[in-house]
Amino acid sequence: MRISSTLKVAGLAGLAMLAACKQGDTPAAAPVIPDIALPDLSLTTLQDVTKELSSDAFEGRSPGTAGEEKTVAYLIKKFEEAGLKPGNNGKWTQDVPLVEITAKNATPLSFTGGKTPVTLQYAKDYVGFSYRVQPKTEIKDSDVVFVGYGINAPEKGWNDYAGLDVKGKTVVILVNDPDWQTKEAKGEFNGRAMTYYGRWTYKYEEAARQGAAAALIVHDTEPAAYGWNVVESSNTGTQYLADSKDGGAKETVANGWMQLGKAKELFASAGQDFDKLRDAAKVKGFKPVALTGVKASFSFDNMISKKMSRNVIGVLPGTKRPDEYVLYTAHWDHLGRCQPVAGDDICNGAVDNATGTAGLVTLAQAYQKAGAADRSIVFLAVTAEESGLLGSKYYAENPIFPLAQTVGGVNMDALNAVGPTKDIVVVGRGKSELDAYVEKLAKLDKRVIKDEPTPEKGFYYRSDHFSFAKLGVPMFNFGSGEDLVTGGVEAGKKGSEDYEKNRYHAPGDEYEAITNWDGMLADLRLYYVAGRMLAMSDAWPNWVEGDEFRAARDKSRPAK
Ligand SMILES: [Zn+2]
Repeated sequence: MRISSTLKVAGLAGLAMLAACKQGDTPAAAPVIPDIALPDLSLTTLQDVTKELSSDAFEGRSPGTAGEEKTVAYLIKKFEEAGLKPGNNGKWTQDVPLVEITAKNATPLSFTGGKTPVTLQYAKDYVGFSYRVQPKTEIKDSDVVFVGYGINAPEKGWNDYAGLDVKGKTVVILVNDPDWQTKEAKGEFNGRAMTYYGRWTYKYEEAARQGAAAALIVHDTEPAAYGWNVVESSNTGTQYLADSKDGGAKETVANGWMQLGKAKELFASAGQDFDKLRDAAKVKGFKPVALTGVKASFSFDNMISKKMSRNVIGVLPGTKRPDEYVLYTAHWDHLGRCQPVAGDDICNGAVDNATGTAGLVTLAQAYQKAGAADRSIVFLAVTAEESGLLGSKYYAENPIFPLAQTVGGVNMDALNAVGPTKDIVVVGRGKSELDAYVEKLAKLDKRVIKDEPTPEKGFYYRSDHFSFAKLGVPMFNFGSGEDLVTGGVEAGKKGSEDYEKNRYHAPGDEYEAITNWDGMLADLRLYYVAGRMLAMSDAWPNWVEGDEFRAARDKSRPAK
């Protein structure tokens, strides 16, 4: 839950005391955060590695291509030169099996058995896809249940599935979370700020845990924050998955989205009022509602192709507690060959994310120079972020170093190429005890901490740190704001808008277009301090009480 920083500090102290009192001792002092000085970092390394990775020879670093071969070989060489040891039992890489699935020959989605049949055309009215790696997907005469926002959050006492078995049924789910219309960031689901429970990925995951056969999200432009065109274009083409041994057997048979107008028709055909039920779903204690008598049917074929990609992993073993780990991550992949602009069809991904990957090498050098830390430092360059955080997800689900032994970490994705700023923005502030560390390191660099400007966009859930957070590992997520040392907010905004408009995910994201490296170095120094603080301490910072990821951490790492 987002709360002001003063309140949060009081809250943390309270938590520490509570934990201590439970054990029947005198209240323990809050964990001491070690003093770490800002390091000297090599600008040459940062520039050289960024330049090499984003050169045309690497062809935009698309997973499974010759560009991957070059990238992986180059990173291994750089990690070795920086004094790291191979991170995967003597090997520098972890295989990441990827699957591409494309739905073909989709039938209409038909709801029968109500007052009137309701039919949804593929792409126009609904989209369907499967996370199961199988040649055909079929839902036939499946009972339909409305499960509100589709949330099961024990820590909030909220369960939209309460009292109803949805095994084998088709669940219809609202987009976002129950208090998305609340202007301030408060309430059970943090007001307008997005929570994990509001993300579409969560809704499919929970439906699968409940044993539903199909999960259909009702699209609504405002709470979704994008139009149907985005739903259609991102779900009717090829979908990317990390392969698993069971081929996705724990997933629902099918997932999808449907248009709002069609949902209203469907509910009416079952004698229900969609608007009324939507309001009811906002209130705690809401119970799922069966659309009695209505059956859902649809099917499609799946074109499946598999390929192997790799995460690159190096480690700097700790001296005192080598079996405790601090993680640095950055995705090495980018879009490869893409839509040409002025005859150039290579999306070089210099800022996104050659800079973050070069940051790994630069930090590894600095750690080596400073001497080993108490805890081990893991440097992980992950694949397939651009296809849906797949490399980090695969590592988190198949960790080489146990997540219960991983203290926390820093993810670097597209470093600040605009210029040094007076501020840092903390995404997901108030979620974990790492906030106290950020306050300390901001002071060190005399920077002001600001909250993220658009919490409703859910940026916390959109890069690789999320793969670890979801499984309980607290991850730092902060970086330069927009208040430039030279030129202030106006110049900062102009700089980021210029990047978004002209270079983001386009062939123009090239090494030569990076004109300022000082902002990057400034952030990297803070990332060094953040990781080193954890690595020289014996603290295990957790998510705050009531946070959506707290239960995962408490489960994997029970309080002793
Ligand atoms: Zn990126």
